[in-house]
Amino acid sequence: MAQPPAAPPAKGRAKTTELPEHLKAYKNVWVFVELEHGRVHPVSWELLTEGRKLADALGVDLCGVVLGPKAEGTDQAIAEAFHYSANRVYAVEDPLLAEYRNEPYTKAMTDLVNKHKPEILMLGATTLGRDLAGAVATTLQTGLTADCTELAIDADKSLAATRPTFGGSLLCTIMTRAARPQMSTVRPRVMAMGDPDRSRSGEVVRESLGMVEDEIVTKVLDFIPDSDTNQAQLAYADIVVAGGMGLQRPENIQLVIDLAQVLGAEYGCSRPLVQKGWMTADRQIGQTGKTIRPRLYIAAGISGAIQHRVGSEGADQILAINSDPNAPIFDFAHHGIIGDALEILPALTEAFRKRLSVDRLAG
Ligand SMILES: Cc1cc2nc3c(=O)[nH]c(=O)nc-3n(C[C@H](O)[C@H](O)[C@H](O)COP(=O)(O)OP(=O)(O)OC[C@H]3O[C@@H](n4cnc5c(N)ncnc54)[C@H](O)[C@@H]3O)c2cc1C
Repeated sequence: MAQPPAAPPAKGRAKTTELPEHLKAYKNVWVFVELEHGRVHPVSWELLTEGRKLADALGVDLCGVVLGPKAEGTDQAIAEAFHYSANRVYAVEDPLLAEYRNEPYTKAMTDLVNKHKPEILMLGATTLGRDLAGAVATTLQTGLTADCTELAIDADKSLAATRPTFGGSLLCTIMTRAARPQMSTVRPRVMAMGDPDRSRSGEVVRESLGMVEDEIVTKVLDFIPDSDTNQAQLAYADIVVAGGMGLQRPENIQLVIDLAQVLGAEYGCSRPLVQKGWMTADRQIGQTGKTIRPRLYIAAGISGAIQHRVGSEGADQILAINSDPNAPIFDFAHHGIIGDALEILPALTEAFRKRLSVDRLAG
């Protein structure tokens, strides 16, 4: 009897999802401790806090990676990584790492990875972290999931990295099954920062950079700090007041600014206000703006679209002011005032002004 023809090979099946034997030696969770001009970006401590959960779930060590010049700030960063629960710190100290440049930082990181073989490597999704993560992932030919909102360990011990997709309307979970390390970046304030334990310390593994200045194309001629003192510090503000399209006219932004001033708060907005040029982009809160985690968030005339929600729902307390009782923001706000923001904002400003000046006099 004639045999039926063999089925053609399925397209796109060639890629294996099985971890190759030589990558099975990769162990431990690493966090890049972002050090610039002697100061560590706080996202590093947020990532170490999150990394601790992943390391515990895997039963492995949590390690920090500190790259910088031999200096007091670098020593401090190493010590603090232990306070935020690292078991070990890999440090490369070299004058060539004094200012961030992609080439020496990528070399330092990829050499460390190739030698010490971590299974997970996390970086902050800052300007520096994004630049470094992309270069390291391409050099190591591994997977990188950017701007993760959730990290977990799945049943087969892979990193399940969740991030928004399709314009934030869906969440997708991405795995790097056939390469190591599994890399991810996380934006500042997306993960909570744990309390430091100043009594903790650990092992420091020092490696050398093995590079000379002539091998580096990029030269830093000068460092000029940003002179704009009005820059928004939304991500780490304790109180944030924000306005949305419910403010109706650009001049009504002043109502938000007034309340923020009385409360000693930062102010921000939803995306349409930036698109209309009513506020600068550094004040936008949400998926394509800043993620905030204040103790109090007051949102006035903001509908609470998913893209705004993902950047603000980490606030301890959310007070929404909206004229529509069915606005989606009331689904996640802790307190709500249904009414006209143009009347309620000045009333709140006045009430807080009086209350706080009484408290100040009493204090
Ligand atoms: C890829 C992508 C990324 C995005 N990223 C972001 C982002 O990072 N941040 C962000 O905010 N948005 C983002 N958006 C836009 C988002 O989908 C919404 O369109 C936006 O958040 C809506 O802004 P809003 O709530 O100010 O305006 P609207 O949706 O127009 O809502 C205005 C609200 O004000 C209320 N209101 C009207 N008048 C008054 C009044 N007098 N007093 C009180 N309340 C009043 C209304 O009831 C309504 O709820 C993104 C969209 C896409 C597609």
